[in-house]
Amino acid sequence: MSSNHLHENLGPGLLEEVAPQVFSYVQPDGTWFINNTGFIVGNSAVASIDTTSTELRNRAYMAAIASVTPNPVTLLVNTHHHADHTHGNYLFGEATIISHVACRSVMMATGIPDYRAAFPGVEWGDLRFRAPDVTFEGATTLHLDDLVIELFDLGHVAHTDGDVLAWLPDRGVLFTGDLIFHGGTPFALFGSIQGTLDALDTIEGQGAEVIVPGHGPAFRGQEIAEVLHAQRTYLHFVQETAAVGVASERTPIEQALATDLGEFDQLTDTERLAGNLHVAYREIPQSGYEWVGFENAIADMIAFNGGALPRCLA
Ligand SMILES: [Zn+2]
Repeated sequence: MSSNHLHENLGPGLLEEVAPQVFSYVQPDGTWFINNTGFIVGNSAVASIDTTSTELRNRAYMAAIASVTPNPVTLLVNTHHHADHTHGNYLFGEATIISHVACRSVMMATGIPDYRAAFPGVEWGDLRFRAPDVTFEGATTLHLDDLVIELFDLGHVAHTDGDVLAWLPDRGVLFTGDLIFHGGTPFALFGSIQGTLDALDTIEGQGAEVIVPGHGPAFRGQEIAEVLHAQRTYLHFVQETAAVGVASERTPIEQALATDLGEFDQLTDTERLAGNLHVAYREIPQSGYEWVGFENAIADMIAFNGGALPRCLA
C-alpha cells in the first residue's frame, strides 16, 4: 500500500510531549475520521488513549509510539465508540481495552460499520473487529507503573451515550475525546447538543493545564477558556437555529439551508449543522419532532453540501 493514502499534503501526525511522559498525537487536519490519540509512557508499559481510523493511520500511530519507547502498550482507553477512535483496537493485541459500558454495547451491536456509501474514497485497510475487554460506569482509575490515569464518564449523553474522559491528575492533562472539536464543527448527531454543552462545564471545572481534544490541536493555559467559549458559541447557535426552525415550521434541512453560518463558516465540516439540527430539534419538547434516524440525518448533511459527499481525507 502506498503512503499517499495518508494524504501527505496534510502532513503526518504531530507527536508532542505535552507534559512529562504524556504525549499527544494530533493528526491534521482534524476533519472526518482524522482524529487525535495520545499515550502515556510508564517505566515498563504504555497506556494509549484511543486508536485511529484506517489501518495505515493506526500503523503510523504505533510507529510514533515506538519512536518514543520500546515499552508495550498494555492499556488502551476508548473514549467513545466511533470508528475513528476504535478501529485500531485489533492492532493492540497485548493491551487490555477499557471503555464505558455503553461504548462497548454499541460496538458489539454494530461491529465494523460500513461507511463505503458516504465515504467511498477511504482506504480503510484490513480492519478487524475488537471490542473493549473491561467496561465501567462512573469512574475508575488506571495505574501505569507510578502514574495515575483517572477515567470518568459524565452521567449523561453528550457526544455519545458512552463518553469517557481521561485525566492525569499529576500532569494536569485532560483527554476529552470528541466532546471538543478544535477548529472543526462540533458534532452531536449520536448524542446531545445540551449534553455537550453540559460536558464543557465539566471539562472547564477540571482545571486542566493542557487539553487534548478528539480532533484539532491540543491547547493549554489561556487558550482553554477561548476554545471552550468557541465550542459553546457554536452549540448555542445550533440551539437558536433549531428554535427558529421549529417556530417557522421548517424541517431541519430546510432550516439548515436557510441559515447563514456566519463566523462558523470558517470551521471545517460545516455540513454537520444539518445533522446537529436533528438533535437540537429533538431536544425542543414542543417541537413535535420525530427522530428520523442517523441515515436520514446524514443524507441531510449531503443535501446541505448540494449533493456532495462529506470531504474526507482519511
Ligand atoms: Zn466521535
